[in-house]
Amino acid sequence: MKNFNSYRVFKRNDKELNPDGEYVLYWMQINRRFQYNFALEYAVGWANKLGKPLLILEAFSCDYPWATDRSHTFMMQGMKEHLDYATDQKLNYVSFVEKEAGQYKKLLFDLASNASVLITDEYPVFIMKERNREYPNEVKIPYYTVDSNGLIPLGLTEKDPYSAYFFRKIMQKHFVEAFTHPPKQNSLDELENNSKIELPQSIFDDLPDAENSLNNIPDFIEHLDIDHEVKPIEWMGTRAAGLGMLGQFISQALLEYDDKRNDPDEKKTSQLSPWLHFGKVSEYEIVKAVMEYQPEGWDLDKITFNKGSTGGFFNGNPNIDGFLDEVITWREVGFHFAHHRDDYDQFKSLPDWVLETMNEHRDDPREWIYSYDELKNSKTHDEIWNAAQTQLREEGIIHNYLRMLWGKKVIEWTPDPETALQYLIDLNNTYAIDGRDPNSYSGIFWCFGRFDRAWQERPIFGKLRYMTSESTRKKVKLKEYLNKYGSQKSLL
Ligand SMILES: Cc1cc2nc3c(=O)[nH]c(=O)nc-3n(C[C@H](O)[C@H](O)[C@H](O)COP(=O)(O)OP(=O)(O)OC[C@H]3O[C@@H](n4cnc5c(N)ncnc54)[C@H](O)[C@@H]3O)c2cc1C
Repeated sequence: MKNFNSYRVFKRNDKELNPDGEYVLYWMQINRRFQYNFALEYAVGWANKLGKPLLILEAFSCDYPWATDRSHTFMMQGMKEHLDYATDQKLNYVSFVEKEAGQYKKLLFDLASNASVLITDEYPVFIMKERNREYPNEVKIPYYTVDSNGLIPLGLTEKDPYSAYFFRKIMQKHFVEAFTHPPKQNSLDELENNSKIELPQSIFDDLPDAENSLNNIPDFIEHLDIDHEVKPIEWMGTRAAGLGMLGQFISQALLEYDDKRNDPDEKKTSQLSPWLHFGKVSEYEIVKAVMEYQPEGWDLDKITFNKGSTGGFFNGNPNIDGFLDEVITWREVGFHFAHHRDDYDQFKSLPDWVLETMNEHRDDPREWIYSYDELKNSKTHDEIWNAAQTQLREEGIIHNYLRMLWGKKVIEWTPDPETALQYLIDLNNTYAIDGRDPNSYSGIFWCFGRFDRAWQERPIFGKLRYMTSESTRKKVKLKEYLNKYGSQKSLL
């Protein structure tokens, strides 16, 4: 039988190992952490097998879609923390932030030309998906991608899950095995060859100095050709900040999560998505940490396969069980979907019933139509929607319940569903600090029926699930939220 974690490893080309390579290269693309990282652990395994040292490259490009001061700052804060750690631990670590497009790729290929084998992160969306498709053909050495994204390995599913229920069944079947085959806490623990790698200085000629860039983030990004209107947020992009948020969630919100997570005023969600997105904190360590708060006497034996239903699986505290379902099932269903579908970000990827119903209602009259700029600047007639958009524009995030309403309303206020989809992708990925993630596409496409079922038919929405601001106002606690992000802050 195949080893469980081997479902995480993907060999992307058939190139021969370079016997003269001086090191094994681990290219940290998205799961940017030295802990609980299967890809780094796998690279350590190769280094030990070949008796070579390990070189870690962490870099950042400047020409990725939706690049902003916000995403750059968050990312660079995390890289600065890594640079300090790597210097302290004497790791063979190269950190680099690109000033001109192309510098990053050249550096990667220069480093790969002296390596025996290249290992990098498997990631099912965005530029990482494209790079992992193209670069294996361009390098001269074996190219492996390793999935350290979630608990259920991407290689374990055979096709794209069409619903959360369908994926939950798979999750329930494999949860215990996945949880008991975790990544190592310190991925570098077993590295045997710690000798220092002397890299030729010529590789770095004409490149901006990484230490200098990371020590002066605002000065560095000021000169980049990225969107400077989208300002950095208060949250720091470091692992320390992510772990701090996890600790705060566990002590102040976890045991009320299920009851109060839909109420924006209660602030009982984890707010961990930014650190999950950039891989600063692993899903496994979050799951492990919250499971320690299950009631006394609870253990893995209490888990019973429940055919994909939400309740009756973990059989612990309902708040913890509810959170586990979000962070495992709902987070991972989108990763598995995108893993199997190259069209994960295209309108045509929607289920047939959605394409049909959207077409039938394409010409329905719309009472309000807003332009991208009106939406971006919270200039609609709807107080709740404007508040959610203001939170997104200014703080880089929207409360989950309101995020659903936020997405649904854009379908109602644009000339056609394709325009709505494009506006949502652009707004989300430009402003959200957790944007450009498989969950960005899960969330946005969920508004259009992905992972959902048909509901009662109505104008514009057809059979899509419908949400209104009036019922949201009645259903959830919003008073403080509206005071904070409401009219005085919108650009009306
Ligand atoms: C229109 C729309 C756009 C979205 N865009 C993004 C995005 O860009 N990035 C992103 O990470 N999430 C996105 N989501 C999903 C969800 O809103 C966020 O993951 C969640 O609000 C993050 O807040 P939290 O960390 O406090 O979540 P918690 O409630 O504390 O949940 C913990 C974690 O579970 C996962 N999770 C929770 N709810 C969902 C969900 N409904 N779908 C998928 N994963 C979930 C997230 O990783 C989250 O961090 C979007 C949802 C919608 C409706």
